[in-house]
Amino acid sequence: MLTALLNRQVFTTIHYSREELRRFRRKGLSFLCPQCSSVLKLRIGSQNIPHFAHVSHSNCRVAMHESPKHLLSKQLLYDRISPLYAGVRLEYYIKELKQIADIYVKTDSREIAIEIQCSVIPIPEIVQRTRGYLRQGITPFWILTQPLKHKELLNLSSFQQAFIRFSPHLDYFLLQFLPERSSFQLYTHLLPVSTTAFMSSCPITIPVEQFTLPLLIPDGPFHHPYSFTKWYHHRMKWIYNKLHYNNGRKDVLLREVYGEGDTFLYLPLYIGMPVTPHGIRIKNHEVEWQYYIWKDCLKKDRFFSEGRVCTVLGRRLTKGYIELRSLPLLKKDEGIKTIVRGYLRLLEEVNVIKRISNTQFQLTEPWSCPDHFSAFEQHRHDFFPKWKHILKKL
Ligand SMILES: [Zn+2]
Repeated sequence: MLTALLNRQVFTTIHYSREELRRFRRKGLSFLCPQCSSVLKLRIGSQNIPHFAHVSHSNCRVAMHESPKHLLSKQLLYDRISPLYAGVRLEYYIKELKQIADIYVKTDSREIAIEIQCSVIPIPEIVQRTRGYLRQGITPFWILTQPLKHKELLNLSSFQQAFIRFSPHLDYFLLQFLPERSSFQLYTHLLPVSTTAFMSSCPITIPVEQFTLPLLIPDGPFHHPYSFTKWYHHRMKWIYNKLHYNNGRKDVLLREVYGEGDTFLYLPLYIGMPVTPHGIRIKNHEVEWQYYIWKDCLKKDRFFSEGRVCTVLGRRLTKGYIELRSLPLLKKDEGIKTIVRGYLRLLEEVNVIKRISNTQFQLTEPWSCPDHFSAFEQHRHDFFPKWKHILKKL
């Protein structure tokens, strides 16, 4: 921690030089933890930022979330933000919530709590703390500082996914802080290709000197990750993996596909289309939930409504066949209606369905799943030009 109580007054290490702090330490002053009131040690090494530490085996919640990276993050962000607003406090104890915000900011119009998260905590804790802040009229701003695996794809654990946010400008995006480089990395237009892997734009670097509240995003150009070849490649890879690693008799999806007499390898390409941007809300692969829509609705009824598709997908959700991603920082719950609408719009554009009234759709041709390689090749040949046309509009 960088803050302690000294004679009931807030004392912050970053306002003093190492030499001044050593002098304080020699006086044997009693620094107390604002959270648990236990006596703290003042640590002034040469490597880390001078800080307060609990004695070992402390049960204090603050003590468990401290690391050199966390201390550095707090100092960098505090140094950046404190000249911008009058009311900026480091490690501010919020009495009503009995918790400490890493940085608390009071602007003319609102209160913001910056929460820097280095270590993994349970997602329900993020939800609970977010709700707590909101109840007090404080907007939480969560910052992820964990290293991310990013090569061609961005691989995110469920904990890291919990930091995904949405803006109409950036679609679903993830902001990561790299204190050792004094900068943020912003990954925008996230598009899942599996439960944990995402296509994204090339990350945009934002130096900490440009950090503002709310975050000002440098103007594009944003390179959309959506390319037909990539999409096709990842879709096929997912299908091959599923066939390779799962037992057809035990796997829930494969069992249904085989039961229907469909060939999993040759499913029509409009099953498994990326529904941008909101399809990310469903954790399962697109092939999975879109196949269920086909099986439960479109294949059965040549005429159907949007409401009917929502009902069948909702039922799959309730029964646990599909699952929603845990995205606690998103304000609005889009629900499956928006996703279904997005999918139907795509199906309409590739001419698989057509709208016959405000609420009713019709399949343009009866369902048929290619059952051998050359039939699938023909389908692919017919489908590609339509798809390219859609991508140009994105
Ligand atoms: Zn404590």
